[in-house]
Amino acid sequence: MSVANNSVSEEKTISAIAQVVSDLKNTFATGVTKSVEWRAEQLTQLKRMTEEQQDKILAALGSDLGKCKAEAWTSEIGYTLSDIDHTLKHLKKWMKPRKVSTPIAAQPGKSYQLAEPLGTALIIGAWNYPFQLVFAPLIAAIAAGNCAVLKPSELAPATSSLIAKMVPEYLDSNAIAVVEGAVDETTELLKQPFDHIFYTGGETVGKIVMRAAAEHLTPVTLELGGKSPCIVENSANIDVTAARIVWSKWMNAGQTCVAPDYVLVEKSLSNKLIAAIQTKVEAFYGTDIANNPDYGRIVNERHFQRLTGYLQGQNVVFGGQQDAQTKFLAPTIVLDPDPQSRLMQEEIFGPILPVITLDSIDQAIPLVNQRAKPLALYAYTNDKTYEQKVLNQTSAGSTCINDGFMFMVNPELPFGGVGNSGMGNYHGKFGFDTFSHLKTVMKRSFKFDVSLRYPPFSNIKSAI
Ligand code: NAD
Repeated sequence: MSVANNSVSEEKTISAIAQVVSDLKNTFATGVTKSVEWRAEQLTQLKRMTEEQQDKILAALGSDLGKCKAEAWTSEIGYTLSDIDHTLKHLKKWMKPRKVSTPIAAQPGKSYQLAEPLGTALIIGAWNYPFQLVFAPLIAAIAAGNCAVLKPSELAPATSSLIAKMVPEYLDSNAIAVVEGAVDETTELLKQPFDHIFYTGGETVGKIVMRAAAEHLTPVTLELGGKSPCIVENSANIDVTAARIVWSKWMNAGQTCVAPDYVLVEKSLSNKLIAAIQTKVEAFYGTDIANNPDYGRIVNERHFQRLTGYLQGQNVVFGGQQDAQTKFLAPTIVLDPDPQSRLMQEEIFGPILPVITLDSIDQAIPLVNQRAKPLALYAYTNDKTYEQKVLNQTSAGSTCINDGFMFMVNPELPFGGVGNSGMGNYHGKFGFDTFSHLKTVMKRSFKFDVSLRYPPFSNIKSAI
């Protein structure tokens, strides 16, 4: 069985999508994707693809988002390669039956959980890390023994078309397909009876995905976003805090799902913090940021207009320079914006950092808790009591004390949202489990068939 052309480009008809999915399902039914050999071979091929096509991948990311090579390599290529290495290293262990104890009532017997692949998965990526956000879930899907359709974001067209070209050259076309396209193609994909849907993107489309999945009772993982707060408590080391805020906020020009969205700081400390952030921005990007290749661009005109629109009538205390033609928007700080403004009501997802000053840092946690649960929460503090307060009194997909999104580099930690920032998680073994069904297995012995549980119950009635 083979999918004749597993890259359905825009000029191909949407009607091909049902056939692509059906072909993958047929492949899954043969059982070929279940062997450890197939899984390891595909992961190795994915590694080869990422290494051999590095220059083209970097060029595509540069064309889509103006990503500088060093940043693109670390956050997209290097990240993917280390994810593959980690998965290959642990694959056999993750696939092993997970033995558990068996209670006396079921003795003699054995109990274990068996990770079995779900089947054929749909992976829908977002545009901000358009390579990594498609391949990190694919690594997990392959490791767990699934077939998959990849739907890269149409808002990163160079990366999307490169993915559609590369994947059939390196991976098993009978099991892994790429469908390029936008709303129409995704809508058609969502009508198909997938066994899992893994979606990365915004909340609005997340709801569309979940509604469509309900039709087939397909389980979903939703990797969404939201406004991730950053609390700077009075005891924090301001110099290091500023460096880490600048690194995590202005990487990829702020278009990172886990970027700090806004800062909460006491009034007495705010000038010092803003000055330190300004110093770090200049140290990292210089004073002519528009001509610094290390600084990215806004993905498209629509997002550029959205972001510059946020600045209307705001108190911009740093940055604000913009160029519509090159979609450049400088690292920008807005001081104390109106809480009702769009800047504070919507996820910014760009290089604008509101700094909210408080009379007392005790106001920070209640303010965070007034909003939907964020994807990430950052607290900079040297005070262990305050650290515990943050951990106990707030809820977020991930929390990092004294840094930006460094937790992303640890494959032993799950990555995912909570509440409005998403459901389910992945990375490392968590991704393997997301694309697996943990089948309960109990094996009993024919010996000692205790008759007490069988009717008639007249023998035990007197004891009840
Ligand atoms: P996007 O526009 O790239 O959309 C994501 C996917 O949804 C794309 O593949 C797109 O084709 C599809 N899509 C768009 N409209 C659709 C529709 N009407 N019906 C069906 N499918 C549709 O991405 P976006 O939503 O602009 O991404 C930004 C959001 O993603 C932010 O909220 C960000 O925080 C979040 N995000 C989350 C993560 C994470 O890992 N949690 C990572 C990156 C981005």
